[in-house]
Amino acid sequence: MATSAAAMDGAAAASLRSVVQRVHQAAERSARTPQQVRIVAVSKTKPVSVIREVYDSGHRCFGENYVQELVEKAPQLPEDIEWHFIGNLQSNKAKLLVNSVPNLEYVETVDDEKIANCLDNAVANLGRKPLKVFVQVNTSGETSKFGVDPAECVDLVKYVKDRQCLEFCGLMTIGMPDYTSTPENFKTLWNCRSEVCKAIGIPEDQCELSMGMSADFEQAIEMGSTNVRIGSTIFGAREYPKKQK
Ligand SMILES: *Cc1c(COP(=O)(O)O)cnc(C)c1O
Repeated sequence: MATSAAAMDGAAAASLRSVVQRVHQAAERSARTPQQVRIVAVSKTKPVSVIREVYDSGHRCFGENYVQELVEKAPQLPEDIEWHFIGNLQSNKAKLLVNSVPNLEYVETVDDEKIANCLDNAVANLGRKPLKVFVQVNTSGETSKFGVDPAECVDLVKYVKDRQCLEFCGLMTIGMPDYTSTPENFKTLWNCRSEVCKAIGIPEDQCELSMGMSADFEQAIEMGSTNVRIGSTIFGAREYPKKQK
């Protein structure tokens, strides 16, 4: 695969168009409308110019997973981008992230009370609108530092819901520690949603599922995903490897 393709004019925007089509088809196969599945274009490691190209083609929803990178890129890009933070967030970076990115719309990786609390305080201090959050669940069954255990997700969701400046909007999973996913990961997140909705008394369509990446987003949509995070299929392969977790 030619990694330089994404750097060519128009390549990323064209790739996005084909992703949009595939998402629409997968949504139809699962008896949902395309509007029910959000595409987060994951632009980590990619230059502002390429993000701009995808923006100019009409897309508004982008994801980054390193705080420093997002803090540098966001001010160089239009304010009506809806940024999703999808990386591991250390609590001492929460304030920097919130203060530097006014159009941060979602943090998808809340996996303990401490980080929820730090984000809540940062938003309160800034006086901005509430921050939407996903609770990240470790669905791999393997010991991993990231994501709450499925058995603990109800408690964390309740904690998030009690925070004044956070808006709970759903559950997120990465899948396996190597960033691949299995149908079991998607099924586990689906089951977590049932428990959460029962426990806090909300309908399932008010609890989103963020799952699926480049390699498996169609399957994820067929298994209920409402938010797919797609990087390399839109922007081309990343030039340097994923940060070692
Ligand atoms: C990088 C990343 C993605 C996108 O991965 P691709 O396989 O390039 O689509 C999705 N989710 C998270 C959390 C990521 O870090």
